[in-house]
Amino acid sequence: MSNQPEHIKTLIIGSGPAGYTAAIYAARADLKPVVYTGLEPGGQLTTTTEVDNFPGYPDGVDGPTMMVQLQQQAERFGTDVRIGMATAVHFSEEVGGLHQVTIDNEKELLAETVIISTGATAKYLGLPSEQRLRGGGVSACAVCDGFFYKGQDVAIVGGGDTAAEEATYLANICNKVTMLVRKDQMRASKAMQHRVTSTPNIDLRYNTEIDEVLGEQVVEGLRMVNNQTGEKEEIAITGLFIAIGHKPNTDIFKGQLDMDEAGYLITEGKSTKTNLPGVFASGDVQDKEYRQAVTAAGTGCMAALDAERYLATVESVEVQA
Ligand code: NDP
Repeated sequence: MSNQPEHIKTLIIGSGPAGYTAAIYAARADLKPVVYTGLEPGGQLTTTTEVDNFPGYPDGVDGPTMMVQLQQQAERFGTDVRIGMATAVHFSEEVGGLHQVTIDNEKELLAETVIISTGATAKYLGLPSEQRLRGGGVSACAVCDGFFYKGQDVAIVGGGDTAAEEATYLANICNKVTMLVRKDQMRASKAMQHRVTSTPNIDLRYNTEIDEVLGEQVVEGLRMVNNQTGEKEEIAITGLFIAIGHKPNTDIFKGQLDMDEAGYLITEGKSTKTNLPGVFASGDVQDKEYRQAVTAAGTGCMAALDAERYLATVESVEVQA
């Protein structure tokens, strides 16, 4: 096997809705995309069951099926999908420069353009009972899964804007929402806090944490503990939503790409351009606000179009030179 780096025209890192949509557009534009899937091929959607809110599926679709279909659609136009994880990058700062990317600590690539779609990972509390019941009533996305608990009693953990927004979203669908905030105040904006406190079927509990999620196969209840008094209380619920933040998967880009304080990649204006020429970002890795499959897919399309325009500019400069 040659040790020479492999030359790639369009490298897509990550295989969620953003990465595969970028691949579909890039392949159809003859940008010869290569997708490296990362550790979780298909991304976050492979950990959900039913996806009911992606347009075009009137009966819903389960997450893993949808991701296989997106992969097949990308491959139909010639995308080369490979299992592997980008472990190091050394991006060029020059227009037209080649970007070095290492895969699985050994394979070297030189890419003309790179689309980063590495996503974000929802944080969980880490309790064994919570982990056991993921997919059995424990979810990190109220907008995705809230509908399954219509008319039922649920709980949500977290005190930020996401938790506040999701609690009010759930309160519209569910009978009662118990909201657990670990401090004596919420981190959410005042406006969001006001929405929570003025929603009658949200039972807001400060200084409260989860002691254990109850249920063997599915969530049946929650044992809560007041972290000031140590007092425990059990409630019956069927759904538990964890909304304690996400971690964008950007560690390998630190020091090279501009990020906000939470590590989300910063893109320029309405585009998917990062601070480096030829490097684009799409999906949850650059979006902490919407985080939906359909919005990720939309920005994946944008990244492929931005990459196509960038390559066309570079080629026209080379022709003139
Ligand atoms: P945040 O990091 O803002 O908030 C996380 C919340 O979870 C905090 O209340 C934190 O508590 C709590 N938490 C963290 N770990 C634990 C734990 N182990 N147990 C219990 N509670 C825990 O995350 P968000 O996802 O809410 O928001 C991320 C960013 O996105 C923010 O900048 C937010 O403003 C923005 N956003 C904006 C929206 C909008 O404008 N519409 C909508 C959603 C998000 P503590 O305060 O004690 O640390």
